[in-house]
Amino acid sequence: MTKLIDRFLRYAKVDTQANPNSSAHPTSPGQRMLAHYLADELRQIGMQNVRTSDQAYLYAELPATLGLEDVPALGFIAHLDTSPDASGSCVCPSVIEYEGGDIPLGDSGRVLSPEEFSALRRLVGHRLIVTDGTTLLGADDKAGIAEIVYAMDTIFSKGLPHGKLCVAFTTDEELGFGADFFDVENFGAKYAYTIDGGAVGEIAYTNFNAAMARVKIVGKSIHTGSAKGIMKNASRIACEFESMLPPDEVPEKTEGLEGFYHLSSMKSGVGEAIMIYLLRDFDKAMLEERKQQIFAIADALNEKYGEDTVLVDIEDQYQNMKDVIDQNPILIKLAEKAIYDVGYIPISWPIRGGTDGSNLSHRGLPCPNLGTGGYNPHGVYEFASLNEMEHAVDIILNIVDSITKENA
Ligand SMILES: [Zn+2]
Repeated sequence: MTKLIDRFLRYAKVDTQANPNSSAHPTSPGQRMLAHYLADELRQIGMQNVRTSDQAYLYAELPATLGLEDVPALGFIAHLDTSPDASGSCVCPSVIEYEGGDIPLGDSGRVLSPEEFSALRRLVGHRLIVTDGTTLLGADDKAGIAEIVYAMDTIFSKGLPHGKLCVAFTTDEELGFGADFFDVENFGAKYAYTIDGGAVGEIAYTNFNAAMARVKIVGKSIHTGSAKGIMKNASRIACEFESMLPPDEVPEKTEGLEGFYHLSSMKSGVGEAIMIYLLRDFDKAMLEERKQQIFAIADALNEKYGEDTVLVDIEDQYQNMKDVIDQNPILIKLAEKAIYDVGYIPISWPIRGGTDGSNLSHRGLPCPNLGTGGYNPHGVYEFASLNEMEHAVDIILNIVDSITKENA
């Protein structure tokens, strides 16, 4: 059986950096290459119905052991692409036995230091995989892929009993497309876990409800010399709009379960201003209140400056998966038990963003996220603990074992 580390290093070397400037799907050819390569691997380890979609999503199944067809089908999902924020080309990782202190990253002059990245302190004694300081590592999410493939290989080669297992590797997750083309109907699983990033022991199933507001302000442009009583300066009205929002409810002043209004961009002149606001809240009703607040400010300014001066258009982006997961408590129960059994304390904190799992959960595939043992994603300081990666595999195996025994 190919070792976990060998699988990971092999996947890490394929450049699958997502390209935000491409309108193709996948946005970079490396993702399709890795999908085809993995399709062969999955066939070799005995998976069936291995198929690749137009967008290079890779799906595969391990049919239930004879007699265990009634065990609920379980899925494991990871993503093939890496972040556009750092190069994914010529990834050249090193494996080190970590004894504490600073880790020099290749000849780059950069060091990975516990002063800066405190997680390193509890990883003394682990085997770490680090970059050469010029690229990202791609543990986000090739650690997840390697762990899933290795777990499936273990189950099949050891003949471990199991219900139907389904695997999917998606593309362009980093650009927010990871769930868009996901074929929930034909995936074949009733429940799934995304295996995507973070310390082992983490279970994430609470994320923001999100909406985007586009605020357009229509001004009246006139020569400044003869503007008195006539000019309507869209830029100034835009500033007024922003000043009417609660000043402390912004990303830079909130944390934990607090929501916010985020002015993410603003383009303005005298004649017209466009402001884009991201509205975020863990509580659905509170998100609705935030939307109402935006409309109320628009109404007040329209009253002051004339009808249709401020036009608001709000669209929903994604939803908190917690509601869905709460209706399927088995997913958290299974994960917590599996994590305990490997010797970790399960921890769960709110994701101040969205995940593929939130989208999939609301499309009918309840899907919390589990940690991979990957740290500092999206940059040259990314690293992974091989010890934790091995434990992540054990957690997958434990989950499969528990759901099988419970339903056998
Ligand atoms: Zn990821």
